[in-house]
Amino acid sequence: MPMDGLHVITSFLLPSQTDLRVDRVVADEQRRTVTLKVTSTQVAPTCPRCAAASLRVHSTYTRTLADLPWADVGVRVRLHVRKCTCSSATCSRQIFCERLPQVARPWARRTARFAAQQQRIGVALGGAAGQRLAEDLDHAASRDTLLRLVRRTEMPDAPTPRILGVDDWARRKGQTYGTILIDIERGTII
Ligand SMILES: [Zn+2]
Repeated sequence: MPMDGLHVITSFLLPSQTDLRVDRVVADEQRRTVTLKVTSTQVAPTCPRCAAASLRVHSTYTRTLADLPWADVGVRVRLHVRKCTCSSATCSRQIFCERLPQVARPWARRTARFAAQQQRIGVALGGAAGQRLAEDLDHAASRDTLLRLVRRTEMPDAPTPRILGVDDWARRKGQTYGTILIDIERGTII
């Protein structure tokens, strides 16, 4: 069935192209926000403890997630998800909340892609400067939020250096100095 233009656009812009259906789009002109009312269409959510799929819906609930802005308009996703009864008789988890890891982490208040972008800002600039840039980009995040996201960053595995070098490093020519550690054998900055 062909979709109308609005439906196509919102589907393209959703935080996941699968498992979500847009029910309504509500625009608030005064606050310059758009709220997407979205329902999970995941066929059978899986229990996070035993991974058994379940079709037994216990109840439903709504999560509200901040998402990446559209132009300079803030976007919120009101996500309608299910609580299911685990189908495994031996599982210790009787009821579990449906998870959509491609959309957001459990308990998160922002979508995974929004968190990833704020994390990149935090990694590049740190807390205070990152907070200022995030506000400029309509990505408002507190310093603490950015630092929490930075702490969650997975660092690539690197061998423990055997020979360390220490050097001075100028952030701006002749101005701010810092100290860097260098892996002499690999020629990389640590
Ligand atoms: Zn289970």
